[in-house]
Amino acid sequence: MISRFQSHSAVGACLLFLGCVATGDLPTTHETEKFIRPPAQLVHMPLGGNKNAKFEIVQSAHGPFSHKGKAKYSVDFKARIGTPVVAARAGIVVAARGDSTTGCDSEECAVHANYVYVDHGDGTVATYLHLKAGSLKVKVGDQVCQGDRLGSSGNTGWTKGPHLHFDISDVSQSTLPLRFYEIAKASNLNIDDVGSGVPIVGMKVSPAVTKEHCLKNVAYSACGQAFDEFGVLITNNISCTTAELGRDYTIVGRVIDTRFEAVMISQKMLSRERIPIAAGVDKTCVRTEKDGTFRATIHWPFLPKALGVSGGMFVTTVLSADRCVANVDKHAWLHLQKPDR
Ligand SMILES: [Zn+2]
Repeated sequence: MISRFQSHSAVGACLLFLGCVATGDLPTTHETEKFIRPPAQLVHMPLGGNKNAKFEIVQSAHGPFSHKGKAKYSVDFKARIGTPVVAARAGIVVAARGDSTTGCDSEECAVHANYVYVDHGDGTVATYLHLKAGSLKVKVGDQVCQGDRLGSSGNTGWTKGPHLHFDISDVSQSTLPLRFYEIAKASNLNIDDVGSGVPIVGMKVSPAVTKEHCLKNVAYSACGQAFDEFGVLITNNISCTTAELGRDYTIVGRVIDTRFEAVMISQKMLSRERIPIAAGVDKTCVRTEKDGTFRATIHWPFLPKALGVSGGMFVTTVLSADRCVANVDKHAWLHLQKPDR
């Protein structure tokens, strides 16, 4: 029994972290990760170019300027406009914008940032922000390897000066603690030393020079356990990072405690300015079977205002199907795509 469990979990790790199958005796990011606290994301620098370049960390975790709340583990690297922005980890592009030329030192400029979002397939998504207009080398759906060029650093959106904002979030867009190989190296620390690789304000960091082995077959992150804190598991392969407008999606799952008679699926669509679109707010109540399983169909309407929108979804247990209300609100944020993509 014990050995069966162990071999099963090893297979699971290899499915999630492709590096462990393919790289033989080369150490990879993910083999090293077993030495650290699970939520910390250990990655390479998101900036490339001249190996003698140095990028100063001008804001890091809990930065008083803008790295608060869900953004609390973000990091800002000062970088000249035009500096290559490269993928910190392999993944699939779930959102990209490169047409904005606007930037200013005020929150109202936040919606004018150019960006690339990369889904790593394990429930985490990287954000690359403030990119230069017209510099994007990738589009939605592209597979990228660590070190691949995404675009160029710029000064669009809410910014005090040219820099790259980088973070890795869970599917609810809450950022996760970060560590970087290049920072550990600059501090002459082993990557498994406590605190090594943590970005500290004032540090100057070299660009990524190594490239991990990469297979280019990352799938969109499935919802899986995204709603387990609300007592629900999603058991089919529905993405919690992207969805196509105007399409039906089947969602299959189970409640962890079968006394909950139903689940409530809440959906809302936000405009580019993050304002809810009235017609895109929906709530579906689904009765569970005796064994706790359920199946539902959800739909993201194709609305005229739907360009550039994101959609929030959360699933939670409710005690009675007749009283389908819940006061929790922690959405998985999906990047909604046009159907003709
Ligand atoms: Zn930032």
